[in-house]
Amino acid sequence: DYRCRSAFKLIEMDDKYRILKPGFSIVDCGAAPGAWSQVAVQRVNSTGESTELPKGSVIGIDLLRIAPLDGAQFLCSRDITDPSTHMELERLLPEAQADVILSDMAPNASGLRELDHENLVTMCLSMLDLAERVLRTGGSLVCKYWDGYLAHKLQQRLSLMFKDVRTVKPKASRKESAELYFLARMFKKR
Ligand code: SAM
Repeated sequence: DYRCRSAFKLIEMDDKYRILKPGFSIVDCGAAPGAWSQVAVQRVNSTGESTELPKGSVIGIDLLRIAPLDGAQFLCSRDITDPSTHMELERLLPEAQADVILSDMAPNASGLRELDHENLVTMCLSMLDLAERVLRTGGSLVCKYWDGYLAHKLQQRLSLMFKDVRTVKPKASRKESAELYFLARMFKKR
């Protein structure tokens, strides 16, 4: 059982694009209550359940508490925009590197669509600073955003960082919501 229906969005994207592989190390930004981390744990084999496959790792980060999950390590009460979180993550990651960064982060909705959009883009840009530091060359990133006038700014930055950037709207995401995901692959290290 998944902790949240959002799991199905990641499952759908990963079934199509094969982002999560056994042995990979994953950073899950905005991980509470932990459904994406559950999917990641299964797909990278971070519990070591499949003994014939390489064993991966999953680190989840959130402002909120997250109930413990076998195969994952959680940094709770942490702000992704805080440089001290970036430093802590670098210490915890195997060889200070991640294969994939996932972000399903969302700020508390203000009810003002434009303000929510701006706040989420700002958080995503900060998450990209983190990606610059810890993502391995060739790595991938999945990032939720709410569509709006700054989306192209986020896309531009992603296009500088990655060889392949596309927009994905999973079927499991409500049609009427402005929610979209960027899938960025083949990270080019500077
Ligand atoms: N993917 C998660 C799952 O499947 O369980 C659901 C994530 S939920 C839609 C968005 C999360 O982003 C919230 O738990 C929220 O606390 C977190 N968040 C918002 N701003 C954050 C920040 N600055 N740093 C870390 N987490 C943040």
